[in-house]
Amino acid sequence: MRLYDTARRAVVPFEPSPPPAEVRIYVCGITPYDSTHLGHANTYLAYDLLIRRLEDLGHPVRMVRNITDVDDSILPKARELGVDFLELAAAETARFHCDMEDLNTRPPAAEPKATEWVAEMVDLIEQIHAVGHAYTVEGTTWFDVSTWPDYGRLGGYDHDTMVALAAERGGTPDDARQRNPLDFVLWQPSLADEPVWDSPFGPGRPGWHIECSAMSVGLLGTGIDIHGGGSDLIFPHHECELAQSEAASGETFVSHWMHCGMVGYDGAKMSKSLGNLVFVSDLCKESAPAAVRLALMGHHYRDDWEWHDGDIAESETLLDTLNEAVRQGGASGGPGTGDAARGGAPGAAGTGIAGRSGGAPGAAYGGVLDDKPVRSPASGDGSDPASYARRLRDALDDDLDAPGARAVLAEMAEAVLAGRLDDSAPGVLAELCELCGVALERDSSLSSSADREAGAVGDAALDPTPSSGAGAGAGPAGTVVGGTTPGPPPPPPDPQ
Ligand SMILES: [Zn+2]
Repeated sequence: MRLYDTARRAVVPFEPSPPPAEVRIYVCGITPYDSTHLGHANTYLAYDLLIRRLEDLGHPVRMVRNITDVDDSILPKARELGVDFLELAAAETARFHCDMEDLNTRPPAAEPKATEWVAEMVDLIEQIHAVGHAYTVEGTTWFDVSTWPDYGRLGGYDHDTMVALAAERGGTPDDARQRNPLDFVLWQPSLADEPVWDSPFGPGRPGWHIECSAMSVGLLGTGIDIHGGGSDLIFPHHECELAQSEAASGETFVSHWMHCGMVGYDGAKMSKSLGNLVFVSDLCKESAPAAVRLALMGHHYRDDWEWHDGDIAESETLLDTLNEAVRQGGASGGPGTGDAARGGAPGAAGTGIAGRSGGAPGAAYGGVLDDKPVRSPASGDGSDPASYARRLRDALDDDLDAPGARAVLAEMAEAVLAGRLDDSAPGVLAELCELCGVALERDSSLSSSADREAGAVGDAALDPTPSSGAGAGAGPAGTVVGGTTPGPPPPPPDPQ
């Protein structure tokens, strides 16, 4: 498999340790102060597709996705709503889980919450202090980028761009107490109504970036195979994670960085501040979640692209076609010829150059989109179901070309319906849909969030300590001095 690596700025072979070694993946998760929108879904579905293909190749995968339940965005939101931040986090995390389940994504192996890893964050900051990369002024501890010449290596941005992005994305380049505008907060005093933990640097709370360094290395170790998230996290979040993690450990933090493009709506990047959000739960009330998934597969994960309200119709039609084709297998359809469908050697199909849907790559929303080959799988001979399976896997192995894989599904369904393939084809097609996470009709007994809204989800959404089984296993760390205790459940925040 070949994947684009943000740090190397090229599509490179992705060669994790062979099975039974696990492929260790850390994906930056949500800050649970608002509902899951299409931008989130775009990122997490890309990772889900990658995980599915890695498992298909025989790799056990251990994916950790954190919950940022304390940072500079959830605390003001909880204040605005007049609710405890942990209750807000629990309610929105439960909604997020429903959306991810609706979209048929694999649950993470662990889902650490930042508030449960504060002791590890404090330890990490102490290590960074000990090796001379941090300083404390008036209760705030900064990472000193002047001691880390490699700072900026991941994103490759120039100094002025980094300063501008830092100001835009939670940094404080104008704070006169900083030695350098790019220094970033490791620990800071809490405001009067914010949670407080004790630390050797004074009472306060962690900076955003140190959270993911502590949780990722704590659960996956150093040399993580893949780390990433949305492309808006490249700087400063991942740049800072990289610097502080390697400064503390002296070891390689991450082998391969994977970032997903931004989704726009109404002419701008989808964002809470602009209010131009399209929520997954709303889409899943109107359309089958599998159609939403197919719609997102129409765009390459690294592209920035814009959602249009009519986009879902085409994917609903495709889903109908896929269902109809698989149904043609009838009772005997079953899983089909697994051996034929599986294990096609890469490179069996040629590579045609063709346009790809999803708009021109560019930096419209700040993505990292250069150097990407534009290609779609070449046509097979049109009669052998296994050739479609090979082409679909080739597409996924080619920097996770989801549009190419989607095109193979569509083409194969049409061939089945036209009677051009043998009896095994519907079963093979069903397997390929499953590989892509597209739940067909026979699996659609899973209710959507719309169906479940009045059911058990309501309780889970308001339980401040959901026992998802995906917890990190770490007990509470750090002493909450001034944190509030859970009280009555908050009203669900207005998603708009
Ligand atoms: Zn993160």
